[in-house]
Amino acid sequence: MDHISQNDGETEKKLQELATHLQSLLTSLEDIVFEIDGTQTFKNVWVHDETVLFMPKEKFLGKKIADVMGPLAALFTKAVDDVIRTGKAGEVVYKHIDSAVNKWYKVRIRPVVKASELKNYVLVLSIQDITPQRLAKLALQETKEKLELSNQLLDFSQELSKTAGWEFNLQTGAVFWTRQAYRLFDKKEDFEPSIESTLAFFKDSDRKIIDKCNEEAITQKKPYDLELRIVTGKGANKWVRAIGAPVMKDNEVVMIRGALMDITLKKENELELIKARNEAENASRTKSDFLSIMSHEIRTPLNGIIGIANLLKLNHTIDQEEHIRNLIFSADHLMELINDILDFTKIENDKLELTLVEVDLFQLIKNIKNQFKSSATAKGIRLKSFLDDDVPQRIIADPVRLGQILNNLISNAIKFTDKGEVTLLIKLLSVKGGKALIHFVVKDTGIGIPEELQGSIFESFKQVQQSAYRKHSGTGLGLTITQKLVELHNSRIFLKSRPGVGSQFYFDLAFDLPSDQNQPGYLTVSAELASYRQKLTGLQVLLVEDNPINIMVAQKQLEYFGVFPDCVRNGKEALELVKNNRYHAALLDLHMPEIDGYALAEIMRKEYPDIHLIIFTADIMAEVKMEFAKINVYDILNKPFAPEEMFEILLKVAQARGVITA
Ligand code: ADP
Repeated sequence: MDHISQNDGETEKKLQELATHLQSLLTSLEDIVFEIDGTQTFKNVWVHDETVLFMPKEKFLGKKIADVMGPLAALFTKAVDDVIRTGKAGEVVYKHIDSAVNKWYKVRIRPVVKASELKNYVLVLSIQDITPQRLAKLALQETKEKLELSNQLLDFSQELSKTAGWEFNLQTGAVFWTRQAYRLFDKKEDFEPSIESTLAFFKDSDRKIIDKCNEEAITQKKPYDLELRIVTGKGANKWVRAIGAPVMKDNEVVMIRGALMDITLKKENELELIKARNEAENASRTKSDFLSIMSHEIRTPLNGIIGIANLLKLNHTIDQEEHIRNLIFSADHLMELINDILDFTKIENDKLELTLVEVDLFQLIKNIKNQFKSSATAKGIRLKSFLDDDVPQRIIADPVRLGQILNNLISNAIKFTDKGEVTLLIKLLSVKGGKALIHFVVKDTGIGIPEELQGSIFESFKQVQQSAYRKHSGTGLGLTITQKLVELHNSRIFLKSRPGVGSQFYFDLAFDLPSDQNQPGYLTVSAELASYRQKLTGLQVLLVEDNPINIMVAQKQLEYFGVFPDCVRNGKEALELVKNNRYHAALLDLHMPEIDGYALAEIMRKEYPDIHLIIFTADIMAEVKMEFAKINVYDILNKPFAPEEMFEILLKVAQARGVITA
């Protein structure tokens, strides 16, 4: 600008004033302002605090940038050259000259006087500390990077877990979906979700559920976790797990946020499993029903076989004896199998219940021992029982089930013992609150059970294969039933066994004690059948039964005891007879034409209370007993009956009615 050098004195003076003014203005600025010429020589500096200068001003004024600015010199000289060359302002950002100081500056370079001669060229460098801005920018950038990373991670994890995220802003009404939500609903990313359009994906009935849950999330601040069905944009049916939770601000729900997971596969597998389980249960029930019906059906003819065999026992020639024994053994064994299967199906269907009555425990043990006496003697083993003196004689128990537990264990013990003894030990553990806790042990000196097999012998149909005993009879159900029966008494059965030494099964059972301990005990029956002959002569009995074989068997057996019953085939005929005859007892079958056993028992109970009723049935269900207990009929004679059982019941009647004296 040549015209400056040509200014007159006044102008010069004005300029001088202006310069002074400018100088004071400049020093009030936060920036540091340098004046340099075109040769890049420092001419002047304005700064409000000289200590902030990179070196004392005497050291750089009059010197060139290249000589004083060290490592930053090149940056500065190039920038200044560019400004002179282009005539336009420029700027450079740089870090503090001392690399240890974390400060950033921006220098703006402006041409003030553009002269052709470099030493007349005037430039102003204003330096501004931009550290705060720079740091803020860096922080922002870092935050942005982190946000990006966490978005990527969210994306990735949602992708991996097949989870979609969503948010419903209650204040703006806006709905946000993550990328996976678009995929889940089969929608392009330009689709703009609203609460209505989101809910529309849910199946009608499920929409009501999620609607209600969203409402509760808002009104009651309750989160939810549901399994619902959706139909996607492409019409695909999917199962989703929908989780939602309220987001609070100042104790107000402002948003609901949640996740949606595609659980179609899991759900389909689950439904498949439920279907398979139902089918398996149905199949099992059909099997049980079939077994149950078949067993009942087989019992009827078997009753006939056993009855006839028992009659033959009373009257036979010497050479028939062995055939009869074999016949009875096989028939009894078949009956045992059928009873096991029946019990097992009842256990499987949870139908087994205890029928509690007052029981003479001593008598029960005695009967069991009698029952096994011959089989033990035949094998040359001793059968012993030890009852502690304080064991109560009378307890409230289910005699059939308790007998069955002990029978099964003693029968196994005899079966698997070749020498030595089988012992039944009974000990009183405690008497508390009218309840006695009794410890039972069945011990043998038999082959024992190897340790590795001990865990599995309680499983159904499990027979441990021990070579020498492979041929033994049985279903492998005995111990399963025994264990279930013990469990039915709220207890557990335990086993201790050593191969070659013997086995020991033990358990504790709690029984209520009868309130009045002074009642007479049970009538005892001699074991010898032959001694019952003609013992009940004079007893008047009515037999109501429709099966001819059963009639024949019962009639013959009764005749052996000296009883000549009147026989009728149904309830109607029975009622005719009782009108005009006097009976001490009546044996009633249950399933009969016209008036069946149930109806007949009720009528007779009411109208002929003097006739002692005995239910004569092949139905060994507990319900049958309970049904009759309601009308005070307690005597049940099971078909097939053991002659001793029939005798025992009739003897009781005969004694009570004074037909015979004890
Ligand atoms: P099973 O009808 O075969 O007797 P169980 O369920 O009563 O069926 O018994 C299962 C298996 O346990 C038997 O086959 C036998 O191998 C074993 N077992 C049971 N009791 C004894 C015992 N006292 N001594 C040795 N083995 C026994």
